[in-house]
Amino acid sequence: MSLNECGCSPAEILIFPCSGGSNVGQIANAAAVKLTLDGVGKMFCLAGLGGHIESMIASAKAARRVVAVDGCGVACARETLQHAGFEVTDHVVVTELGIQKQYDLTVPEAEVEKVAKRVRESLGAIAPTVRAIAAMG
Ligand code: SF4
Repeated sequence: MSLNECGCSPAEILIFPCSGGSNVGQIANAAAVKLTLDGVGKMFCLAGLGGHIESMIASAKAARRVVAVDGCGVACARETLQHAGFEVTDHVVVTELGIQKQYDLTVPEAEVEKVAKRVRESLGAIAPTVRAIAAMG
């Protein structure tokens, strides 16, 4: 499968893991790292957007796909992005893939791959062009 079936270049695909303090948060983080190293997209600083750092919001506005990878259904990454004014085009939740939330911070490679695969599948689907609607910046 082509990594860019949506027609976006990796630089136009920004990936925001929640990076939470649990196994699933860290699996989300590791999946974002893997997807970045594999050239699928570019991991971006969620905290920068949450902190309303203007230069980072301006950079993120150029994205055509905004991918939130959340550890669990609380969906902190998606909520943070929306709060900053961004439309989330792709949302993957680790616990929805049969991975239970625990607090041992273990990051099994097979689970990271499972999440990365789900993100790739989402990006392969036809999706709307992202409109960054951030009012600030
Ligand atoms: S989405 Fe879940 S795992 Fe991620 S930061 Fe929020 S509560 Fe933690």
